[in-house]
Amino acid sequence: MLRRVPADDMYVVQTVETGKDIRLPAEVPREYAALRSGDAQHAAQWIRVVSNDAHLHHLFLSRRPDISIGFKDFRKLVPGVSDPGNNLGVVVTHDPDLPPELVEAGAPEFAGWAVRRDGVEPLPIEIEPHVVGLAQLTGKWPIEQLAANSVMVVGCGSIGSAAAEALAGYGVGRVELVDPDRFLWHNMLRHALGPESVGRFKVAAMKDHLAQHWPQQTVVAHRRDVVTEAHYIRPIVDRVDLVLCAADGIAPRRVVSHLSRRARKAAILACVLDNGSIGEVIRLRPTPRFGCLLCLRQQLADQGAMDAEADQELDYGTGRVHQPMTAVPPDLRYVGTFAAKVAIATLLESLHGDHTQQVPGEHAIIGLRPAGDLAAPFDLSQAGDVRWSSIPRPRTSCPTCSPG
Ligand SMILES: [Zn+2]
Repeated sequence: MLRRVPADDMYVVQTVETGKDIRLPAEVPREYAALRSGDAQHAAQWIRVVSNDAHLHHLFLSRRPDISIGFKDFRKLVPGVSDPGNNLGVVVTHDPDLPPELVEAGAPEFAGWAVRRDGVEPLPIEIEPHVVGLAQLTGKWPIEQLAANSVMVVGCGSIGSAAAEALAGYGVGRVELVDPDRFLWHNMLRHALGPESVGRFKVAAMKDHLAQHWPQQTVVAHRRDVVTEAHYIRPIVDRVDLVLCAADGIAPRRVVSHLSRRARKAAILACVLDNGSIGEVIRLRPTPRFGCLLCLRQQLADQGAMDAEADQELDYGTGRVHQPMTAVPPDLRYVGTFAAKVAIATLLESLHGDHTQQVPGEHAIIGLRPAGDLAAPFDLSQAGDVRWSSIPRPRTSCPTCSPG
């Protein structure tokens, strides 16, 4: 028996008769909501074929659209098929004994047929595979290595929510989300979450959102402020492999830079600057070669570059009327995804020795809609351009890099 879903021109198996009067219901899991609807009780035939000819014909007909096979000829191929009368008969044939060369050529073990008196055409059939989700990439992407890794995401706004989704898509096993705020209407335009989450705390809503799409991932939600609750944040930094900070403003970014350096963890900081005209991704690695956020900003200040932290405080804004946020949603997602890519590359290279995951530097400036009017190194003039550079060595006077 089938359910028919007219809007999607789809039939879904509802019950299968496996022997005389033995009917087994096809339980459709709750998450496949579209497969659970439709009008019940459409009879269909389910026939096991003994010669391989039927499925060879199915393969041939599937590749030649607009060709059908006469009903009488089909009956010879598939003995036992019922006369559909003036209606459409849906038939599923099963050929478990296909030779490997036919399988290789694309002949299916299960074949669907639209049977009418004036001709029979192949119907495409889809069967839930044994493996769905990220596990399908096993052997092609380091699923197992990344499943053993963890990332703390500080700031679950537009960039942070995109980064968290990307980390899940790459297969990071555990993500610890840190954000004190609620998800409100003005956030919705630029966020992975939608109206169903308005009013909730961002970390809790993101946790549910990720669990729905990436059930293999563990998400821990911390409704905390990284600046005022550093005592709570420190142990999280200690237990994760990397920190990704997408929080706005001077203070949270400095705290992340400081805590991750002290914990000897790499940190990725992501933001947009100059009203969303450029993106910036900084990778901070706790080695003698590379200083911290303060060391980088001091170098940039010495060069006469813009004060990026102050720019964020002033212009990135809260999204409210008095402080409009001008960055465009996909640009923020792009920067969030980019930051996640740098995070994953850093984990794979440093923890797993994957040399295909080296990135060109520690500091990336990304052209979103650059006007070309900023001082170096922010002076990009083309959208889509990415400029990489290094960051300075630790200063001896730096309170983060060289604690006295
Ligand atoms: Zn420093």
